[in-house]
Amino acid sequence: MKDFRNIIFVLIIATFILQMDVSKQDAKAEVKNEKPTVSLSTFALYDIAKNISQDTLNLVMILPFGVDAHSFEPTPKLMAKIMGSDLVVYSGAGLEPWTSSFEFKSKVIDMSKSVHLLKPKDGHEEHAHHDHGHEAVDPHYWLDIQNMISATKLMRVEFIKLSPKNTDLYNSNSEKYIQMLKSLDAKYKKFLANCKKKTIIVNHNAFSYLSNNYGFHIEALSGLSPDAQPSAKNMVRLIEHVREHDVKTVFFESFVSNKAMKSIAHEAKVSVDVLQPLGNITANEAEKNLSYEDIMLTNLQKISKALVCE
Ligand SMILES: [Zn+2]
Repeated sequence: MKDFRNIIFVLIIATFILQMDVSKQDAKAEVKNEKPTVSLSTFALYDIAKNISQDTLNLVMILPFGVDAHSFEPTPKLMAKIMGSDLVVYSGAGLEPWTSSFEFKSKVIDMSKSVHLLKPKDGHEEHAHHDHGHEAVDPHYWLDIQNMISATKLMRVEFIKLSPKNTDLYNSNSEKYIQMLKSLDAKYKKFLANCKKKTIIVNHNAFSYLSNNYGFHIEALSGLSPDAQPSAKNMVRLIEHVREHDVKTVFFESFVSNKAMKSIAHEAKVSVDVLQPLGNITANEAEKNLSYEDIMLTNLQKISKALVCE
């Protein structure tokens, strides 16, 4: 009889522990449900999401900081994270070849479908050297501020669907973000209105949206993708251009080799500086918590200096 009582006692305790465990799991599930997860593939899109959601969503930046947006492939671990999110927003226009074979289990947005895309005008020979499939359109559309506004409006709507209780917050944050973008656009117009020079020289042709909107020209060492090998012919052409037009600075970006740009600068005796195409940011920039706005303003300062604007 005593043994039987002991068994009952153990059973009661066991049931109690089991229930506790179940309720703990429930609590976990609830916390997870409270904050939906959104994965975003470029820094510009991530910056929009961060500003609209203001900690009400779990945001996953698909690109690790410091990695070139063009050549990135997610690891299996990251793939699982992307698959587990409630919403995936990727840049599109050929920037992420991995999306074509990816099995999305959640809602997915190809942002390039909701923005205005540029078709490259000039058929640089470099385009033939890489097959990312984005030769047809220029994928760097986040450098067009109107496109950023369109992306903000779309994300606001999607975030409200994910978390309706935050509707007011998302409305007011996206309104603020759009105001910031409009003032950024006004600054670009103002500071690039009267310039003595017309052309900036960059390693990778990421800045056509800016040059198109604010009326200057781009000479690029390689095409729309930075990993294309620059040809000797193209290097000579740029050095000649630098000398002929008395260019003071040539630009490169942090994610790819700057060897070619440095040798052009050395050859032509001009300085080199970084322009940030904003598909991603460096680990250092991430540590400083720099925003799309911060980096766009730094770019503006450098471009207006290079173009000798008043
Ligand atoms: Zn690029």
